[in-house]
Amino acid sequence: MSVKRKIILVLLLAVVLNFAGGCGEKNNMAQKQVPAEKQGLQIVTSFSILSDLVKNVAGDKAAVEYIVPIGENPHDYEMLPSELQKVTDADVFFINGFGLEGGMERILGNVTNTPVVSLSEGITPIPIVGDDAPDPHAWLDASLVITYVMNIRDTLISLDPDNKREYKHNAEVYINQLNELDSWIREQVAIIPQAKRIIVISENAFKYYGKAYGFQTEGIWELNSHEEGTPQQISRVVDLVTNKGLPAVFVETTVDKRYMQTIVNETGVPIAGAVYTDALGNKGSGADTYINMMKYNTEIFVKGLGN
Ligand SMILES: [Zn+2]
Repeated sequence: MSVKRKIILVLLLAVVLNFAGGCGEKNNMAQKQVPAEKQGLQIVTSFSILSDLVKNVAGDKAAVEYIVPIGENPHDYEMLPSELQKVTDADVFFINGFGLEGGMERILGNVTNTPVVSLSEGITPIPIVGDDAPDPHAWLDASLVITYVMNIRDTLISLDPDNKREYKHNAEVYINQLNELDSWIREQVAIIPQAKRIIVISENAFKYYGKAYGFQTEGIWELNSHEEGTPQQISRVVDLVTNKGLPAVFVETTVDKRYMQTIVNETGVPIAGAVYTDALGNKGSGADTYINMMKYNTEIFVKGLGN
């Protein structure tokens, strides 16, 4: 964290603490003139993919925002003071868990009473390679996202029981779509020969996807929070791509592409495309919802490895 950011944060903490201890946050909320269209739950999620899941369950009963901007990386993201305020003002803060939001949780613990709900709760984690810590990217398996959706549904019902029927119905409709997505991915990847079922990418984020849909996965590094791209990491992947005779490698929309470009230069194997792991795409990208993002990624894997 830069010194400037630290100073701003300390000032903000002082304001928030004083505010909470002084006039009382809830009291102040009640005095606000809330326009009719702003009524309903105010929900904040850590990153864009979770927001799309929440919107599908909440329908028009909540306003949903996310913290980490599209194109940026949620691993160890440090919140700006204005973002921290957004979380403090919300009815609930949904995070992925499995350590993804470590940087956010450290700050939140001291200054906010907003409930923090981990959507991966109930999922058995896959550990990162060479460590006991969980890999956070469980959302890249469509069948596991059903657990996320059930956690969202149950939280919304407990916060807003009047709309229980709506949340249950919305969750049911969306779970059906996720089951269809899961089957669609299995059908699409079936044409990739067994020997080519290796996803080589900068961050080894596709472990859950690989386990669900039958791929070995290899990253230059394990998690973006350890992003290094050392000569040893690069040469390990160069050897792997060459030895396996892979037809393509991949990059992510949220990661510096120079490391993978080095591997392309050394092996002559092309990058088949940029996939979405830690953020949705912008409108018009073809990956602006969770379901579209999963389809987009799958099509790129099939294009790269399918012949
Ligand atoms: Zn990641």
